[in-house]
Amino acid sequence: MGAFKAIVVEKGGGGQSVAVRDFDENDLMEGDVTVRVTHSTVNYKDGLALTGKAPVVRRFPMIPGIDFAGTVESSSHPDFKPGDAVLLNGWGTGETHLGAYAEKSRVKGDWLVRLPDGLSAAQAMAIGTAGYTAMLAVIALERHGLRPGDGPAIVTGAAGGVGSVATSLLAKGGWHVIASTGRPQEGDYLKTLGAAEIVERSELAATPRPLAKERWAAGVDSVGSTTLANLLSMTKYRGAIAACGLAGGMDLPTSVAPFILRGVSLLGIDSVMAPKAVRLEAWQRLARDLDQDKLAAMTSTIGLDQVIETGKAILDGKIRGRVVVEIG
Ligand code: NDP
Repeated sequence: MGAFKAIVVEKGGGGQSVAVRDFDENDLMEGDVTVRVTHSTVNYKDGLALTGKAPVVRRFPMIPGIDFAGTVESSSHPDFKPGDAVLLNGWGTGETHLGAYAEKSRVKGDWLVRLPDGLSAAQAMAIGTAGYTAMLAVIALERHGLRPGDGPAIVTGAAGGVGSVATSLLAKGGWHVIASTGRPQEGDYLKTLGAAEIVERSELAATPRPLAKERWAAGVDSVGSTTLANLLSMTKYRGAIAACGLAGGMDLPTSVAPFILRGVSLLGIDSVMAPKAVRLEAWQRLARDLDQDKLAAMTSTIGLDQVIETGKAILDGKIRGRVVVEIG
C-alpha cells in the first residue's frame, strides 16, 4: 500500500492541529500484526484527543482512534494469520500508539480480540469501546451479587454511547432501568432501548446530601462529579454503582456516609488496560446479550472525513448513541 489515508494529530503553535492526510506505512510503529482497518468509532475520549481538550495524545504525530475492527493483513503472532477478523479496544492506541483512524494499523497481537461469532466489523464498532465498557460495568454489578430483584438500576448520560448500551443490556437482563438524561427529547429513544423511567439530569445535579431517599440498587455512571455523588447517596442498602466516566467532571464531592452506613460499593471500571480474559468475556456477552435491533437503532455511520467534526460534537453532548466510522 505504501501510503494510506489517516487522521493525523500534530503538535505546533502551542497546541495541536488535526487533519486527514496521507501517512506512510513505514512510519507505523512496532507491532507483530498489521491490520487493514475497516471500521472505527467516535468515543468521548476520541473527542478529547481530536480537539486537544485533554492531554489524551501522548506522542506526536499521532493517529487518534482508540478502537477498530478489521482484517489481519500480515502477522508474526502465533494466534493470528492473514484474513482473520479482529477488533481492538484501548491499550494506548490513539494515545501512545498510532491508532484507529487510518486504513492500516500495526499493533501487538496480544492486544487483539477475534471478532466474536455473530458480529460484523460494523456491529463490533457500533458497540465500540463505549459499549464494551458498558458491558464491563454490568458484569461488575453482577459480580457484586446484584440482581434485578434487588431494585431498579440507574444509568446516567443515558442517551450517550456508554449509556445507550448500558440501558439496553440492563433492560434485556430484566432490570427496571431508570435512564437519566439532560435531553428530555430523547425520552422515546431511551424507552425504545428498554428504559422504564426517565429522570431529568438536573434532578441529580443538586448539591449532594450525605444520604438521601434510597431509589436504586445498582447504577452505571458515565458522568462523575455531583451526579455520581447524588447516585451514591440514593443507592439502596448494599447496592453498588459502577463508575466509568467523567462527562460531567472528574471530581467526586461525596462523603463516606453511603459506604459506612448503607454498605454501598463504588465499582471502578477501566476498559483500556483490562486483562484479555475480561475482554473476551465482555465481547462474548455482547455478542450474545445485546439486542441487534436496538444496537442498529442507536447507531449512525460516518466516513473518515466527518470524524473531526463529530469529535467536537461528542464533547458538546450532541451525539446520540453510537457513531461508526467506515474506513476505506
Ligand atoms: P458520550 O458523549 O456518548 O456520552 C456522555 C453522555 O453524558 C452525554 O451523551 C450526555 O448524556 C451526558 N453528559 C454530557 N455532558 C454532561 C454534563 N456536563 N453533565 C451531565 N451529563 C453530561 O460519551 P461516551 O458514552 O463515549 O463516554 C461516556 C463517559 O465514559 C466519558 O466520560 C468517557 O470518557 C467515559 N469512558 C470511560 C471508559 C473507561 O474505560 N472507564 C471507556 C469509555 C468511556 P445525556 O444527554 O443523556 O444526559
